[in-house]
Amino acid sequence: MSGTELAVLARELKARAELLDDDDWSALPDAHPAPSPNAALAALSAEVEACRRCPLGSQRLKAVFGVGSPSARVVFVGEGPGYEEDRRGEPFVGKAGQLLDKILAAVGLSRETVYIANIVKCHPMTDPTQPDLRGNDRPPTPEEAAACRSYLEAQLDLIKPRAVVALGSSAAKTLLDTTDGVARLRGRWHDFRGTPLLPTYHPAALLRDEALKRPVWDDMKELKRFLEEG
Ligand code: SF4
Repeated sequence: MSGTELAVLARELKARAELLDDDDWSALPDAHPAPSPNAALAALSAEVEACRRCPLGSQRLKAVFGVGSPSARVVFVGEGPGYEEDRRGEPFVGKAGQLLDKILAAVGLSRETVYIANIVKCHPMTDPTQPDLRGNDRPPTPEEAAACRSYLEAQLDLIKPRAVVALGSSAAKTLLDTTDGVARLRGRWHDFRGTPLLPTYHPAALLRDEALKRPVWDDMKELKRFLEEG
C-alpha cells in the first residue's frame, strides 16, 4: 500500500472512530424501534374488539375503545358506553357528549386535543334482552370494571397524560377504589397510579340538574390552571 493510500485509510478510520465516539446516537437507525403510542393504541383497540373477558363482550354491538390524541395532556374517563356509543363505537356522543364538547371548549380544549375513554369498553345494559331500547343503560358492576381495568391502565401508560379527569361517581369510585361519591371527591386532586386525578360530575348529571354547572365550571378552571402551570 502506498503512502497516499495509507493516509486515505487513516483518515477514514479516524472519521469512523469520531462517529462512534459521538454522544448523539438519536440520528442512527434503531434496529428494534419501540412502537409509537398510535400503533400500540391501535393494537390494544384490536384486542378490545375481540375481548370476551366479561359478559358485556357478548352483549355489545361495538366495543368503544376511546378517541382523541395519543399524546393528550389530559384523559377524561367516563363510566361506560350507552345506547348511542354502542352503535357508533365512540365515547360521549349524543346529548351528554355534546355538552362535554362545550365544557372542553370553555377551557380551550377539544375532542382532538384530549383523550376520552371509559372504565368499561362495552355497553352495560339493565336488560340485555332489550338491546334496542333507548335508556337501557346502567353503571358497570365492580366485576365488569375490574375485568376491563387493565385496558384503561394500558391506555394511560401509553398516552402518559399530565392529568386524568374522572367523570361521575362510577368512574371516580372505580379509579380511586373508594365508596365515596363524586360530590365528596370533587374539588381536589387525587392520585391515580402516580397521575393527578380530578373528579367532577358526569355531563349527563348536568343535563338533569343545572345546579351542577357551577361546580363543574370550578373544576374545569382548576384543570386549566394545572395544565397552564406546565
Ligand atoms: S367490558 Fe371490557 S372486559 Fe368486558 S368484554 Fe368488553 S372489553 Fe372485555
